[in-house]
Amino acid sequence: MPLHLLNHPLGTHVLTHLRDKSTKPVLFRTLSYQISLLLALEATRDLATEDKLIETPMEPMTGRVLAMPLAIVPILRAGLGMVQPFQDIFPDVSVGYVGLERDHTTAIARSYYCKLPPLDGKRVLVLDPMLATGGSAIQALEVVNAAGAKDISFICIVASPEGVAALDKAHPNVPIFTAAVDRTLNAKKYILPGLGDFGDRLYGT
Ligand code: URA
Repeated sequence: MPLHLLNHPLGTHVLTHLRDKSTKPVLFRTLSYQISLLLALEATRDLATEDKLIETPMEPMTGRVLAMPLAIVPILRAGLGMVQPFQDIFPDVSVGYVGLERDHTTAIARSYYCKLPPLDGKRVLVLDPMLATGGSAIQALEVVNAAGAKDISFICIVASPEGVAALDKAHPNVPIFTAAVDRTLNAKKYILPGLGDFGDRLYGT
């Protein structure tokens, strides 16, 4: 499975400020938007386009427009911090939600909500900022698979090597797009150096 590492100086800059513990929620949300926008562009680089006949003010011409509908599926709640840029740049994007909650002692994800649009025939991007153990990502990919998605990518902001390996083993055909692969997980399954609890920092909880 291909691992796509975001390779842009602005991505590196934004990620450093996201990681900084002195970054407050209001700036954290802006930075999440910015890095998710860069990842959105990266993950859709190969979207299909088709001919469209238009008229410029000067003459008719055949342009090209997006031919493949897009669906994003943020994993609640931290994935919500990545949704807005996709809605801002893609004219027709459907949004589904998968609610998975990590038990803080066992680090095992539990599903508590699922609402998905039709996914067949769409590029489906599953969004979760932190790929830690891979547990939530694997479950979410199973859910979207079962709902008929065939063209699926996983997008995160920071991944652990353990999470990448687990996701690759469970879903070898799903490409992963991330801004960084960090060193490791700690005993509580948080990513090191990471950026702490993404949801807590996003929502100031
Ligand atoms: N979820 C987070 O928000 N941070 C981590 O480091 C791991 C999982």
